[in-house]
Amino acid sequence: MLQEKGTISINTENIFPIIKKFLYSDNEIFLRELISNAVDATQKIKRLSTLGHYSGDLGNLNIQVKVDKETKTITISDSGIGMTADEIKKYINQVAFSGATEFMEKFKEAQDANEIIGRFGLGFYSAFMVSDKVEIQTLSHQEGAEPARWICDGSTSFEISEGSRTQRGTDVILYINAESEEFLEEHRISDILKKYARFLPVPVQFGTKTESVPDGEDEEGKPKYKQEERDNIINNTEPIWTKSPSDLKDEDYLDFYRELYPFSEEPLFWIHLNVDYPFNLTGVLYFPKLKNDFEVQKNKIKLFSRQVFITDEVKDIVPEFLLLLHGVIDSPDIPLNVSRSFLQADSNVKKINSYISRKVADKLSELYKKDRKAWEEKWTDVGIFVKYGAISDEKFYEKAKEFLLFTNTKNEHYSLEEYNAKVKDFQTDKNGQLVYLYTADPERQDSYIQAANRKDYDVLLMNSPIDTHFIHHLEMKLEKTSLKRVDADVVEKLVEKEDAAKHTLTEEESNRLKEVFEKAINNPSMKVEVESLEAAAMPVTITMEEWMRRMKDMSRMGGGGGFNFYGSMPDNYKVAVNANHPLVNKILKAEEAQQTAMAKQAFDLAMLAQGLLKGADLTAFVERSVATI
Ligand code: ADP
Repeated sequence: MLQEKGTISINTENIFPIIKKFLYSDNEIFLRELISNAVDATQKIKRLSTLGHYSGDLGNLNIQVKVDKETKTITISDSGIGMTADEIKKYINQVAFSGATEFMEKFKEAQDANEIIGRFGLGFYSAFMVSDKVEIQTLSHQEGAEPARWICDGSTSFEISEGSRTQRGTDVILYINAESEEFLEEHRISDILKKYARFLPVPVQFGTKTESVPDGEDEEGKPKYKQEERDNIINNTEPIWTKSPSDLKDEDYLDFYRELYPFSEEPLFWIHLNVDYPFNLTGVLYFPKLKNDFEVQKNKIKLFSRQVFITDEVKDIVPEFLLLLHGVIDSPDIPLNVSRSFLQADSNVKKINSYISRKVADKLSELYKKDRKAWEEKWTDVGIFVKYGAISDEKFYEKAKEFLLFTNTKNEHYSLEEYNAKVKDFQTDKNGQLVYLYTADPERQDSYIQAANRKDYDVLLMNSPIDTHFIHHLEMKLEKTSLKRVDADVVEKLVEKEDAAKHTLTEEESNRLKEVFEKAINNPSMKVEVESLEAAAMPVTITMEEWMRRMKDMSRMGGGGGFNFYGSMPDNYKVAVNANHPLVNKILKAEEAQQTAMAKQAFDLAMLAQGLLKGADLTAFVERSVATI
């Protein structure tokens, strides 16, 4: 074959320096792209052989990656279908370079370079991100084919000539440029391979490893071993998500989990995803044991496309509430080379999203039905996903309301339906409205919980970060039901009944009592009210109205669209003085100075019970109390 020089005809001249600049941060993907091409070429020859279109010996199909520090080259070799000189012209000169041109076109439209960096596989052309020049040595599988060599420095001129390969397949040789010499370090290449090539379907060999192998017996008849150099295969070519669930045992799933996340606690359970219509998707999603720091645990799902690792940012593909899951998703149908806004609008992505959500709901429902007790034990961890899902995905809620659990302060679990039946008799108010009581902090709100329990009211535990939103969601969904925190009012008024108890104080006494307390407390945001409570209750109870507290909670969490009106308002509390408590009579009969001291002490005790007594007030209270010992 004669040597031939030529010019690649593309529209945009000198696109390379620009691409290089913008992809610099992500230039390691060159290896992923070149190895993917080698995998494709290998799978093609296998297929041709299976179909009877190739009758030669397949031989060793391993892909090899070699780094040579002397010549400053990285070589990726495969024994795939290879290319003829004509195919190089067609596929490399035209396809690969037109891909780069197209990339530039897309880039021009993109608002933000980050939108495309790392999401756009540049294919073969990405080799130029790290190379001064790239050489291809290849021999096509076709009968009578001649080896061909192609060399190019990334500009539009190339050279094609006779090659030196004697075996079917392709070597891509990268002459690493001065800025990219880091890639001549073995550990760097090894890290990149671990990231992208760990589960490729064709064995990838990088370097060698020494292994002990049996070597007969010594004089005493003990087995002997010798050290042997072996090819180091870096990948698991058949990861579990490519297998059928019926061929897998629990231990296989757990082993794979450990392989993905060494040092992690065991997952609670997992879901094997497997669809081929209307899109292609496989994967295994694990439910981890949750820790409090959610952000750290997000982005643990790895996205693959035909076993090539793509990214662990799956925000757009997986429903938001499932980002806390771990595991892998593999789909050739997720477009990777487009911007994020396009991805969100992509119909496949939308379908994938709702498929995953549905599969997860089905699995959870199955677990609930199969073993209620085991489900209750997992609830602390799983509940967060379920609540999150119920809030953010209407269809998920429709399924989740069957297996959602309420947990009360006695650590009993109830389904929504069971709970309704449990509390309906005692906790329906005079307007037929059902009132569910809850606590966000059972330690701090203990006195309120006890008061509620004395009235045969049940108190739910709503103490996870998601609960504030979940409560709001439940109120919208459950008919004629509202939720109130146990300290939203005195227990007599939490569930308002027809026969509201009356106290025996005269109006004049009531007003006097109120004045005494107002003077003692001396704080306009503490609103004193005289109430008829049971005699055994505390003389003073401090409460904050449900709506007011919620607004404050919301603005503290940064909700309300940045509108921080409630957040900046003073904490307005109600100070309920128990007209039926014996202390009230004592106060009314006491001298004026005594009255103030008694009221102040009763008020401080209430503050203490609610965990509100702090700073100088607390110190003063303690000192005063010590003096009475
Ligand atoms: P893509 O892989 O997306 O088609 P690339 O730019 O990576 O785009 O490659 C262009 C084409 O060059 C491939 O489609 C393939 O036909 C050919 N090619 C690249 N690498 C190899 C290889 N190692 N063996 C055989 N053909 C290859």
